[in-house]
Amino acid sequence: MAGTMTDRFETLAVHAGAEPDPHTGAVVPAIQMSTTFKQDGVGGLRGGFEYGRSGNPTRLALEEAIATLEGGSHGLAYASGLAATQNVLYLLDPGDRLLMSDDVYGGTWRLADKVWRRYGIETDTIDLRDLDAVATAFAAERPPRMVWIETPSNPLLKVIDISAVARLAAVAGATAVVDNTFATPYLQRPLELGADLVLHSATKYLGGHSDVIGGLIATRSDELAERLRFHQNAAGAVPSPFDCFLIMRGMRTLAVRMERACANALMLALWLVDRPEVERVHYPGLPDHPAAELVERQMRLPGAMLSFELRGGEDAARRFAGAARLFTLAESLGAVESLIELPAPMTHASVADSPLAVPASLVRLSVGIEAADDLSADLEAAFAASAS
Ligand SMILES: *Cc1c(COP(=O)(O)O)cnc(C)c1O
Repeated sequence: MAGTMTDRFETLAVHAGAEPDPHTGAVVPAIQMSTTFKQDGVGGLRGGFEYGRSGNPTRLALEEAIATLEGGSHGLAYASGLAATQNVLYLLDPGDRLLMSDDVYGGTWRLADKVWRRYGIETDTIDLRDLDAVATAFAAERPPRMVWIETPSNPLLKVIDISAVARLAAVAGATAVVDNTFATPYLQRPLELGADLVLHSATKYLGGHSDVIGGLIATRSDELAERLRFHQNAAGAVPSPFDCFLIMRGMRTLAVRMERACANALMLALWLVDRPEVERVHYPGLPDHPAAELVERQMRLPGAMLSFELRGGEDAARRFAGAARLFTLAESLGAVESLIELPAPMTHASVADSPLAVPASLVRLSVGIEAADDLSADLEAAFAASAS
């Protein structure tokens, strides 16, 4: 980012990858739809662009932006978060073991369990908060080649010590991957904590407006970046230039959106703790969260996702989620508008009867940037409407 001498996130978020166009002065990177690029003589590429799957100027701007915001030296963009996940798993070979957090995004588990297992990659899930169990896993005769960390986790908001797990992985020669979708680089910077790769579903907070599907990866490793870049082109799950533009536009306001959403989430978490209908609130910002001290150390703010269990069980949870009005009943998360869902029958249906199954009475909120009092009033009305 020539000319900008800062490491402050808010400034980087606005400017990374977004230098004014040298030819026109346009302050926003152009949406470059061309699928091919004229060569000045055979192999004479201008700016390295050849064919739109292997490289595109709009995508490059986005890739530079995520590398900068994660404190990496390489960025890669994909058609979805799971396409990015798929590309990370291409780093493994048949016979390799993958160690995965036992509370990951359902689609990540499905990809490992239902697809990659058929190709000879064995996935073991453990509670990565248990560092003794992690050390034992890496001491096995056939130790995992990769560890998959998702923190805070979905939907139970467990918090894993990234530096501790990354250190154990490094000693064992394994690749440490962090799915940073929930925290975003504004709250948490896994590469600085020793992770090798950081991955995002850009569909969530980075895009931030529920209008684009995308995935991103950042790394400091030249070797990993080269292998990922090869597979990005070889397997071809690349995002459209228009989607790259939308994700980048979202990323420029990430800092202000996260500040507001996190403040709203903290307020709602404290409010829910006092509700008689609520059995238990899972939010990393509550003083009695089991990892409160780690959250303080590892995250700038505790995030804007929270979940809670209702005393009335699954029926109460279904009635409550259906009664909310301002909170939209929908899957996904991380956008300006607040969403409500039941993980067990919705986002986590694919992990029912697996080690990753979640309580049926659990309600998950993705807290948006609306006025906090309107959000609590909506939940209050939903409690009243769903009381039986
Ligand atoms: C949504 C999500 C994914 C998958 O991303 P897509 O863009 O939907 O493919 C992966 N990890 C987490 C934590 C997610 O929330």
